[in-house]
Amino acid sequence: MHGEVRDLDLRDPGHVSIYSCGPTVYDLPHIGHGRQTLVWDVVRRWLVFRGLDVHFVSNITDIDDNIIDRAKRENTTESEIAARFEGEWWSAMRALGAAMPDDVPHATHYVDDMVELIASFLESGVAYRTSDGVYFDVSTVADYGLLAGQPLESLRAGARVEANEEKRSPLDFALWKNAKDDEPSWPAPFGAGRPGWHTECVVMSLDLLGEDFDLHTGGFDLRFPHHENERAQAVAAGRPFARHWDHHGWVMVGDEKMSKSLGNFTSLKDLLAKTDARAYRLLVLRSHYRSPIEVTPATTADAERALARLDSLARRFELPPLAGETLEVASDFRWEGIAQDLFDAVAEVLDDDMNTPLAVALLFDAVAAANTAADDADDDEARTLANAVNSLFSGMGLALNSHGGDVDVTSGQLVAQRDAARAAKDWAEADRLRDELVTLGWVVEDSARGTVIRRP
Ligand SMILES: [Zn+2]
Repeated sequence: MHGEVRDLDLRDPGHVSIYSCGPTVYDLPHIGHGRQTLVWDVVRRWLVFRGLDVHFVSNITDIDDNIIDRAKRENTTESEIAARFEGEWWSAMRALGAAMPDDVPHATHYVDDMVELIASFLESGVAYRTSDGVYFDVSTVADYGLLAGQPLESLRAGARVEANEEKRSPLDFALWKNAKDDEPSWPAPFGAGRPGWHTECVVMSLDLLGEDFDLHTGGFDLRFPHHENERAQAVAAGRPFARHWDHHGWVMVGDEKMSKSLGNFTSLKDLLAKTDARAYRLLVLRSHYRSPIEVTPATTADAERALARLDSLARRFELPPLAGETLEVASDFRWEGIAQDLFDAVAEVLDDDMNTPLAVALLFDAVAAANTAADDADDDEARTLANAVNSLFSGMGLALNSHGGDVDVTSGQLVAQRDAARAAKDWAEADRLRDELVTLGWVVEDSARGTVIRRP
């Protein structure tokens, strides 16, 4: 709202209320949706990790033009389309390792409240009727343009001229769309119809989080007009709205044209079929949330290699996988000595506008230090660092996996054969198998549970 980073000034100390604009469910989620979910999942998890009580709400828009169009095309109902693609949405988000929101309001469950709000706008004169619906008069809100970072006059000059001559200004937006014969509609004193998108989020966020809630989030593209218009309605209704706003950046697919032959990813499902979901989270973490990220076969492969280093650490130290549906809390772990130092360093950069790339860099330095300490037989230091790395990644929702990662089938078989050879005290064969693994690029170690391999 102010175009700068500010302290998160909470309504109730210790409690954070967050509303994150969710999807309109008429198609498969794309990779940009994946980033959106991951960015706010990480913010939410980090706040919980730091000991705050977080109430996270994200909505489903289950009625809109696109849903209606698809239902017509497929000769089915709007509710069938919405239910099908909401199912696709949550299955993709689960695959990404995102925790479910605390509340998931659906627009169609809130139409009565929206009708009430729109009626009050008509009464107070900030809204007006046209032949196709009810519109909000943006000139009635004194600081309209606050989120856009432009005054009303310059927004108006830049707005495209519209065909709808009944609108007083091209910036005025639909609160209500009058019923058409072949579209779903709800009754209202100002005529049956359906709500506009901007009215849904203002009603649902205030209902579930209350006035003056802490943080409203979404992609940069939502800042204007969607968030501007949500805020305008709250101002017009005299209701204190979000105390802070925060927006995340785009996903780019490089200069390359999106095309199957180039191997670019088009849908999230497609990406997750070829890439470990944790690697996508790591790719997202390696950029600041407000910066654009490039998702290409090269950047995902690079993230997978980095993830393999983390999984190697997990194998070497037999670290338990953390993070998942559970939101980890820092106070559940032991922080002392070098672990405390690492915690302090990571917390400092994450608490400052979620500088995840710097946090990840600090953690990878710690991975290298843990491996070096273990090579030097400094087991205490090595283990302390490895556990701290595991805990801190769990605070960003990344689970290290000692069984997953980069061990291919052949290498896995060689490990098993070597363990069998050692059990049979066939040392020559065990050494031969060790050499074979080293040739394949592995560092080979003996542990209490047998042969452990990792990338150098
Ligand atoms: Zn919204």
